[in-house]
Amino acid sequence: MASLDPQSPAVPAQPVKSEPRHGIVQTRVKGLSALGDPIKPLHKEKALLTDPLLNKGTAFTEAERDALGLRGLLPPRIFPLEEQLHRTLAALRRKTEAIEKYIYLVNLQNRNEVLFYRLVMEHLEEIVPLIYTPTVGEACIHYGSIFRRARGLFISRNDRGRIREVLRNWPRAGARLIVVTDGERILGLGDLGALGMGIPIGKLSLYSACAGVHPYYTLPITLDVGTDTAALHTDPSYIGVQEKRLRGPEYDSLIEEFVEAVKEVFPKALLQWEDFGNTTAFHLLERYRKRIPSFNDDIQGTAAVALAGLLGGLRVTGKALRDQKLLFLGAGEAGTGIAGLFVAAAKAAGLTELEARGRCWFVDSKGLVVKDRGDTLAHHKLPYAHAHAPVATLAEAVKEIKPTVLIGVSAMPSTFTKEIVETMAALNERPIIFALSNPTSKSECTAEQAYTWSGGSAVFASGSAFPPVDFGGRRIVPGQGNNVYIFPGVGLGALASEATEVTDEMFLAAATTLAGLVSAENLAEGRVYPPLDSIRKVSLEIATAVATVAHDTGLARVKRPRNLRKDIEKRMFQPVYRDYA
Ligand code: NAD
Repeated sequence: MASLDPQSPAVPAQPVKSEPRHGIVQTRVKGLSALGDPIKPLHKEKALLTDPLLNKGTAFTEAERDALGLRGLLPPRIFPLEEQLHRTLAALRRKTEAIEKYIYLVNLQNRNEVLFYRLVMEHLEEIVPLIYTPTVGEACIHYGSIFRRARGLFISRNDRGRIREVLRNWPRAGARLIVVTDGERILGLGDLGALGMGIPIGKLSLYSACAGVHPYYTLPITLDVGTDTAALHTDPSYIGVQEKRLRGPEYDSLIEEFVEAVKEVFPKALLQWEDFGNTTAFHLLERYRKRIPSFNDDIQGTAAVALAGLLGGLRVTGKALRDQKLLFLGAGEAGTGIAGLFVAAAKAAGLTELEARGRCWFVDSKGLVVKDRGDTLAHHKLPYAHAHAPVATLAEAVKEIKPTVLIGVSAMPSTFTKEIVETMAALNERPIIFALSNPTSKSECTAEQAYTWSGGSAVFASGSAFPPVDFGGRRIVPGQGNNVYIFPGVGLGALASEATEVTDEMFLAAATTLAGLVSAENLAEGRVYPPLDSIRKVSLEIATAVATVAHDTGLARVKRPRNLRKDIEKRMFQPVYRDYA
């Protein structure tokens, strides 16, 4: 099996010069990349200071400084990694605004990835919300003005016809994990166009921190097809193409060219579609999932994390999956994705497809999604449009449908009102209420509201984190249905097995594995997910489950190792400095 670690002996031990491209000679040092100028060549060792994957900053030892000709280029005092961590954390905490912390962390990542990842991994609960939701949303809005140094690839509508060439400009050999967005539906924030680049960057950082996918292999991409947010067309700080979005056949052919180019330039790459709009996300997933190993985290990752939360919740309520009735507020990617995986799980629990679908009901902006509602329903809603009289509001729908589980994925804040939560509590001894919309300001209700209005009976989870709530003399820790519990492990498992396809069965395996990792103590505290600080273990278990499915179903492109779990574990990226002396 090809190594997931570019520092392994599988790559050349000596610097390798590749063909000059665009006047730049690319030099790979021990398999990692460095750029040199052929006119005035940068001595390769000096590149150790500028390549964030190689740089140790003030941690270069005396011996290394002598051996590599770095003496004088760094301040004399040496700070080992532990001290660098201490100082970096203190500097981060001195910043008061989340966005300032984000900028600080991005700059650190661009300077020294080992230090960055160590910091993230040792302070996950504190830093994940800074490099991903909710802060990344704010960062995207301001991406034009906080932009300092490019990371990843921008492929614009003007690059049509030469996307292969753009991909080949990526200076590292062999990207294996690509997160791509077209910026149309960034979190719950809408069409941010090229500003959406913060999302693939953040997601890939989580892959490395939470599942140990080596950052060398990760490639964030933004497809700048334009934006329909009119204000960006005249915004002087906007970094993308100031035109309306490509749509229809022109858009489709750009995506087609992109996928074909990825297959050719990075034949082992796994592609994650990220934050595409409703009108493209489902269709792209279906069109390409068998042509290139790919998945959509907003649809499938969300589905798995929600299903895991539901399975965890059922351990609290003591009820069976097959007896649940789900009512969703919001019938978009997240909602119908969750319903799709619930149907798969309910079928595995003995229901027919029709029975399982009949357990899923949706309320969208026009009321209960029912047959003959009088409007044209989007394709993805059709399987859940049941025969029923029209119902205008969520409050009425809760009374009519009598759900056991209420899931908010509408990005409409404060829509789980006191009346609705009280009705859920009257209908169910332990109602399961998930308010999944992000960021926190979009949450359908807060944890405190869910517990208070339900008299403490709700099993609650949210998309963004809420602090623990003291209620009825006990401290309840709300679950956070963060996709980070799922996608890094799924990606790692698919990469390790070199799966040709990422199947629903893999997401089902990921969800059941995650649910199985919630301890009785976690459940007693109110959590339906394990604590975030166990994420590397969680990702390893999920990766093993996913790779097992890949091997069992003939989708793996590598030989099955004797011990799959151990094999994956030893490939996980560990942020430690290498010894250059
Ligand atoms: P989407 O745009 O695909 O879907 C939103 C849906 O909400 C649409 O069907 C829309 O019609 C519906 N809607 C809009 N206004 C409404 C209203 N007033 N009443 C009822 N429905 C309304 O978006 P999505 O990808 O499905 O994401 C929805 C939300 O879920 C976002 O806030 C997102 O951040 C969140 N989300 C959370 C997680 C998680 O917690 N793990 C994962 C993915 C998405």
